[in-house]
Amino acid sequence: MYNVAIIGAGVIGTAIARELSKFNHKIVILEKDNDVSNGSTKANSAIIHAGYDAPYNSLKGKMNARGNLIMGIVCSELNVPFERIGSLVIARSESDFETLKGLYENGMKLEIPGLEIIDVGKVMEMEPNLTEGVIGALYAPSAGIVEPWELAIAYCENAIDNGAELRINFAVREIQKKDGSYLIKSEEDQVEAKYIINAAGVYADKIYNMVADSEYKIIPRRGQYFLLDKEAGGLVKHVVFPCPNEMGKGTLVTPTIDGNILVGPDAEDLDMDMKESVNTTYNRLGNVKNLARNISDKIPYKLNITTFAGLRAEPDTDDFIIEESKQAKGFINVAGMKSPGLSSAPAIAEYVVTIIEEIDGSLDKKTDFNPLRRKRIKFEELTFEEKNELIQKDSRYGRIICRCEMITEGEIVDAIHRSAGGRTVNGIKRRTRPGSGRCQGGFCGPRVMEILARELSVPMEEVLMENRGSIILTGKTKVGG
Ligand SMILES: Cc1cc2nc3c(=O)[nH]c(=O)nc-3n(C[C@H](O)[C@H](O)[C@H](O)COP(=O)(O)OP(=O)(O)OC[C@H]3O[C@@H](n4cnc5c(N)ncnc54)[C@H](O)[C@@H]3O)c2cc1C
Repeated sequence: MYNVAIIGAGVIGTAIARELSKFNHKIVILEKDNDVSNGSTKANSAIIHAGYDAPYNSLKGKMNARGNLIMGIVCSELNVPFERIGSLVIARSESDFETLKGLYENGMKLEIPGLEIIDVGKVMEMEPNLTEGVIGALYAPSAGIVEPWELAIAYCENAIDNGAELRINFAVREIQKKDGSYLIKSEEDQVEAKYIINAAGVYADKIYNMVADSEYKIIPRRGQYFLLDKEAGGLVKHVVFPCPNEMGKGTLVTPTIDGNILVGPDAEDLDMDMKESVNTTYNRLGNVKNLARNISDKIPYKLNITTFAGLRAEPDTDDFIIEESKQAKGFINVAGMKSPGLSSAPAIAEYVVTIIEEIDGSLDKKTDFNPLRRKRIKFEELTFEEKNELIQKDSRYGRIICRCEMITEGEIVDAIHRSAGGRTVNGIKRRTRPGSGRCQGGFCGPRVMEILARELSVPMEEVLMENRGSIILTGKTKVGG
């Protein structure tokens, strides 16, 4: 029997797993998909918000402020790239300016460092490509950017290295309450655990309803994006937001950690049965373009390399829901993790541990917890000498598989064989970026498939794009040729 079963391997579930792996607890993470980080965590704005905009007395406000503060330590331990590039919320009218003042005051109550309201001259000096008509901005130097899926993968890898288990393709279908534990069942398997942590993203309400009467609903709120080529990279240097509205923080323009430019999202509430609807639509992308003009009228959409959409887990309670259920003892909801869930993840993980500690009594700390994750080699970023030395040691680093992003065979093989390693073409793309460049996998996709087939000892026809059933090849066209 496990002490804790965590349902959902997004950034929240994996952050909690890593925090719990500091203690002598038997932990399992149950994930319905074929990989870690496949829900909201793989499609969002990737911003570590400074934390001034959620109300200072809300869980969102408190978790964001703390999450931002400790994100640097977490990312350095886990070797996840994170840059504090700072953010600007721009005002274009007097009423926008009043909103900025409100954000500033709220941020001061949360002790957000370095917050400043700046005038138009300074704004345009910092960001010369903004559309004219800006009258000032709220500058938050502590805001940053990160690779969200890499953060979740790194959390999971480190949790596994410290004893946690990950079970992918385990879609929780039924939960039975027993005396002092829960039996958690998928179609083919079952596990028993004393505590359940419900970190199932947009499905958290469905999971909760397996053990309790409905207390909250999670509405899927879709946001769509354009991702521009690195050639557009200098367009903005900070995360640039419009003033927030009742649907969220608005359509923003930001650099990504890899040097691309991201434009989006919009906000569209979907029906409750549309929790997998991550398709993009012509009309809504047009809407994103219109909204983004409030930030910059110089966005070079001809350099767009892909569009994508993510689903926010929008709770009907508005705030994050992080508590033990009153109806089901030992069942802890970590739900309604819309933005700033990514930014808050490290703080939420700490908070959940205190909840378990309160229920269970003091927790037994491991003496041999290793907080460090082995660095991922990024061949392209090495010096000429370092590249040469690496190739001498392992010739697979001398074979370029992805020409757009300069990814080598060595990097792909490493991504497959790490704890929580990639098993699919998209899983490898998230870990090392082949297919993330201009050709979007047109050239390197088949090569990545060959490497996956070889390393996992499976036939090419069994290599998947993403989840179960997402086959790419059906058979040979020239048998015996
Ligand atoms: C458009 C958009 C923009 C955003 N921008 C930002 C931002 O810039 N900064 C920020 O801080 N936050 C942002 N967020 C919010 C952030 O993405 C989320 O808070 C965070 O990813 C939530 O992580 P999670 O682990 O709770 O959910 P998820 O990543 O969705 O993980 C939940 C997991 O549960 C699994 N699961 C579901 N049902 C079952 C089941 N029955 N059995 C087993 N597993 C199951 C899913 O497959 C999934 O992997 C944004 C979100 C969106 C959609």
